[in-house]
Amino acid sequence: MKALKIDHIGIAVKDLNETLKFYQDVLGLELQGTEVVEDQKVKVAFLPVGDTEIELLESTSDDGPIAKFIEKNGEGIQHIAFKVDNIQEAIEYMQSKGLKMIDEKPRYGAGGAKIAFVHPKSSNRVLVELSER
Ligand code: ZN
Repeated sequence: MKALKIDHIGIAVKDLNETLKFYQDVLGLELQGTEVVEDQKVKVAFLPVGDTEIELLESTSDDGPIAKFIEKNGEGIQHIAFKVDNIQEAIEYMQSKGLKMIDEKPRYGAGGAKIAFVHPKSSNRVLVELSER
């Protein structure tokens, strides 16, 4: 398997609308859209830049993964997503290398992408997302 590119960088923020000012007004990026991912208790905003994207993540609940991340680490980069052409193969390959997956089966993330997270213990404490779309 080979990661094809950085699909997006996920950034945990407390206030999406407040944060958008920096990305839109200062960096000049355009908001492509927002979406609520119910099972992750998160509201996501996508801002394409070059051939990748910034994904801003605001928790919709105090007990969601993004809320917990901010509680522990503060706002900041939460994950890096790599594009792969076959997510099922990528998961199996990683497992064959002894890496631990948070998602052993692909699930649907924002934008209808098939995604799976690698456990940070297996990736130098960086939360890595695999994304196929
Ligand atoms: Zn992501």
